[in-house]
Amino acid sequence: METAFSNLESLVRSGVRQLVPYEVKNMPECIKLDANENPFPWPVGMREDLFSEKLMFNRYPDGMAQDLKRAIATYTKIPAEGILVGNGSDELIQLILLTFGGLGKSMIIHPPTFGMYKISAQLTDTTVVEVPLLNGLDLDSEQILKASLSPEAHVVIICNPNNPTGTQFPREEILQLVRESGKIIVVDEAYAEFSGETLISEIENYPNLVILRTFSKSFGMAGLRLGYLLGQAETIALINRVRAPFNVNLFSQKAGILALNYLSEYQVQIQCLKAETQKLYEGLTQVPDVVVYPTKANFILFKPGDPDGWAAELLKRGFLVRNMGMLPIIGKALRISAGLPEENDRLLRAIREINSGVIRRPL
Ligand code: PMP
Repeated sequence: METAFSNLESLVRSGVRQLVPYEVKNMPECIKLDANENPFPWPVGMREDLFSEKLMFNRYPDGMAQDLKRAIATYTKIPAEGILVGNGSDELIQLILLTFGGLGKSMIIHPPTFGMYKISAQLTDTTVVEVPLLNGLDLDSEQILKASLSPEAHVVIICNPNNPTGTQFPREEILQLVRESGKIIVVDEAYAEFSGETLISEIENYPNLVILRTFSKSFGMAGLRLGYLLGQAETIALINRVRAPFNVNLFSQKAGILALNYLSEYQVQIQCLKAETQKLYEGLTQVPDVVVYPTKANFILFKPGDPDGWAAELLKRGFLVRNMGMLPIIGKALRISAGLPEENDRLLRAIREINSGVIRRPL
């Protein structure tokens, strides 16, 4: 018999009906090279500092995250009024689209790029306009500018360095978009600590420029979900209207403040990860028939002859890598992030073994 509950799907919002949940593999037994995280433990003393704090978990956190914003202000040189913190930068992407997107509005992205932009657009009924990267790698700033001039276009997201290609786009091309589009230009600088390049110093010049940052990558805090957005105070105040009152929990706020006290220790980790990424890049370029893309981040995109086969063989050897599937122009490719030095050595050995045709039985 049909029950009154049999057709719940028909009650679902249309934008959500087509959504496929974002699935993330959880394989703690593997060497995780699939999520561009920092593989190092936190700097010595930081964990103890955090756990010795007398945190009042029975109380709501400071909804304005004032202490954390003060610490980020010192780090970025952007005043606290120009900072919004989020439950990961994922949340902030959604807040940007809740503020500026919606039905009848569009967001421009440059595939291949980070997948959450599109998901947030679907969730907020924002139309996605795709301007693919030229050769799969370079920003087509002319076409992006053209697209951004249409009245529906409200938001452009530039991921710099770009995930998954690792490409750093020219500063001047982005600034031209900021100047000439008149739309909200979001520059996602999740990997800026690795590239060493940022547009933060331009924020004071442009009310339509916002910069997205995260503690998930260079600061090794992916598990605590902490991101922040930088912009002019008036722009940030608009986005703050759609934020839930206590979006960042007390523990993560405190951890973020502490992390910024350990900048020199993190610098050592970042330099090491850059060197390890370079080591992986050079190792991969020596493998015949593999195309490797230059990177400014802590990960590398590469194309072996049979990416699916390679991903399976790597998994059999205990390495979890990101199979990117079919990317525009580039085609099927894999992405790996730099692990610990020992892990990267083992990975390169495994890759050479796979390339020489050795097939392993599953672990
Ligand atoms: N932006 C980019 C470009 C990313 O690669 C990621 C994480 N993969 C994020 C944002 C999301 O980061 P967070 O953990 O802060 O939500």
